[in-house]
Amino acid sequence: MEHFTRRTWLEIDLDAVRHNVAQIRSRIGGRKLMAIVKADAYGHGAAVLGPFLRRCGADCFGVSNIDEAQELRAGGVEEPILILGYTPEEDYGRLVECGAAQTLYDERAARSLSAAATAAGAKIPVHIKLDTGMNRLGFATQTEDGRRAAVDVIERIVGLPGLVPEGIFTHFSVSDERGNPFTGRQYDNFTATLAALEQRGITFPLRHCDNSAAIYNLGENITNLVRPGIILYGLAPEPGDDVFAAEAQLMPAARFKSVVSHVKTVPAGDFVSYGNSVTLTRPTRVATIPVGYADGYDRLLSNRGEVLVNGCRCRILGRVCMDQMMVDATDAGEVAVGQSVTLFGTEQGTSLSVDELAQMVGTISYELLCTVGRRVPRVYFQGGKAVKVVKYI
Ligand SMILES: *Cc1c(COP(=O)(O)O)cnc(C)c1O
Repeated sequence: MEHFTRRTWLEIDLDAVRHNVAQIRSRIGGRKLMAIVKADAYGHGAAVLGPFLRRCGADCFGVSNIDEAQELRAGGVEEPILILGYTPEEDYGRLVECGAAQTLYDERAARSLSAAATAAGAKIPVHIKLDTGMNRLGFATQTEDGRRAAVDVIERIVGLPGLVPEGIFTHFSVSDERGNPFTGRQYDNFTATLAALEQRGITFPLRHCDNSAAIYNLGENITNLVRPGIILYGLAPEPGDDVFAAEAQLMPAARFKSVVSHVKTVPAGDFVSYGNSVTLTRPTRVATIPVGYADGYDRLLSNRGEVLVNGCRCRILGRVCMDQMMVDATDAGEVAVGQSVTLFGTEQGTSLSVDELAQMVGTISYELLCTVGRRVPRVYFQGGKAVKVVKYI
């Protein structure tokens, strides 16, 4: 295993990922599993997670863009890859090269992709995206007129040379809100469009709409592929949903770790960090931690967030700096330079979840995970042992 600097690092428990995949499998019946590994596998490292998820039995992969698709191919992923987002025309050549499938939601792009494929003597798999209510990407299907127009366009697209119409899909905007009827409306728009297409004799081998939340909240449906992201990594799409927690039984895969770089006792009345935003009310054991917002530790956690030191929750004192921050370790017992601390994860039986930190700053776990910095090495664990390190710099 490669050496890494024990400054700040992200530990990824591959056994937890394998467990989560098994949980998802047991839930989806015979449907195919497209592992969503965009944004560097939600910060967990796509170069390792792609090949690993493949060995766990993922059928195919979903990414946001062509660079991510190429990274997976370079890592030996041979399964189908779907680019869920926009690919600029100038990258169509690379698309052909890497054999990824492209999402289509616009006729002009479909025509120029067809031309690029034909010119290269290649066939490009495509998935048609239907907008059923989110208004992000897709052919609009929210009204009967819209559906009629969408069916006309799709009929023209599936007839274009060089394209292989492999799938059709939509995406939900509130499937994490259990009981919100909007998801049912989106689903109805989806199925109504599929039915209208079928009347014209147009069908697709793959039909998909379930993100993580829908896999647990939508129930029986007509799709044959699911697109889990966050649950692969062991987190809930909607934290605090007890029904989900009971049904899903996931294991968070990532632990964010750092060390103590300096420790001292500071008298009452002193300030800590930029802006003098905190005044100590007692003599305080201040521990400096070499992690900051440049590592993906959100600056909004200033004076709010907590860090586990010896399994004790220690409050952040003052502002989070670019590369460092200070915590109140007065009640954490013996603290020594070089000892490890936990930024999120479990330490000595105490848990501090990424969901909890996300809630403190008004965001979601997804964002805190995928903003973990490039200078933070990813350390992979199996059977409780570190088996691989990936350093980006
Ligand atoms: C990101 C994404 C997913 C996965 O979402 P999760 O909530 O992480 O499961 C699925 N489908 C599309 C189109 C996405 O963009």
